[in-house]
Amino acid sequence: MTRGDRKASYGVLPRGAKCSRCRSQASVHLPSHHANFCDDCFLRFFRHAVERALRSFPIRKDGEIVVAVSGGKDSLALWSVLHELGYRTRGLHIALGIAGFSEPSREASEAFSRRYGLPLAVYALNEQVGYTLEEIARRTRRTICALCGSLKRHLLNRLVRREGGTIVATGHNLDDEASRLMGNILRHKRQYLERTYPFLPGVEGVMPTRMKPLFRLDSEEIRIYCRIKGITFFEGRCPFAKGATNHIFLEALDLLEERMPGTKRDFLFGYLEGKAPPSPEVSAAMKRCAVCGHPSYLDLCGLCRIIRALEGGDTSPQHRHDVPRT
Ligand code: AMP
Ligand code: ZN
Repeated sequence: MTRGDRKASYGVLPRGAKCSRCRSQASVHLPSHHANFCDDCFLRFFRHAVERALRSFPIRKDGEIVVAVSGGKDSLALWSVLHELGYRTRGLHIALGIAGFSEPSREASEAFSRRYGLPLAVYALNEQVGYTLEEIARRTRRTICALCGSLKRHLLNRLVRREGGTIVATGHNLDDEASRLMGNILRHKRQYLERTYPFLPGVEGVMPTRMKPLFRLDSEEIRIYCRIKGITFFEGRCPFAKGATNHIFLEALDLLEERMPGTKRDFLFGYLEGKAPPSPEVSAAMKRCAVCGHPSYLDLCGLCRIIRALEGGDTSPQHRHDVPRT
């Protein structure tokens, strides 16, 4: 059974079900909340989950948020809901240059930006780094998927600053965060666990603040939001993501969720309970990259390591697992 098959039962409404909030006819079934909603009450529930996440982040409501948009359901739902909640937003898309995948991703991002009249900046990865992803993978002997994740994160930090932004929001959702937490716990990745929080303060002039306002909502809830709001997103899976281990952890969590609805939420929220967002000092105290000055766990940041390898320096993949994951 694939993840898609298992999740197909998610939205099946019991016959004649009423909205748990307003008692009109329900259109959405949310087993993990033991609730059914009509479209309007579902949208309220969705906005409320995002507002609750945002309230737990130390940010000002009047500042501008740069939304990292991939063109998929998560980042477009995020952009839509932040706009709806009254935040000033602009989009930033990195065109990765992956054939058959990047073009429709970019088109979906641009179509959303046009429809809502919100600004979108598009940067091509190969123009920023000087090589295409495939060239980088060949020259550094690393897998495209690992490279892409690391490059996206580092480029985002730099491009957000270039766009004049200080806060970037990504579309990571409950499934992403719970599966990452599971992976880090199973592998005893203490250094990542310490920083597991859907908000990471920036360092002034160096790194933007990063936040994940959708961390309280799962993939299906985000899909339902997009359906009700009529958001057209690109659904394709990246052809290079096949080996991603997060996906295996997510399948395991989906199985637990199916047998015991609410498990995923309890797992992530229970872990976060009582934890405060990391303080700005935590980010400020990080080592700095010896080349570019960006906060980094190692002497060189992920981007500078890749660039050094491209320039013919160390091409060994030994640091692969040292790159902190988003
Ligand atoms: P992923 O790592 O593909 O699961 O994406 C996680 C989040 O990173 C998305 O929800 C977006 O906010 C952001 N993101 C992914 N790909 C891009 C991209 N090509 N350009 C800008 N942001 C992206
Ligand atoms: Zn660097």
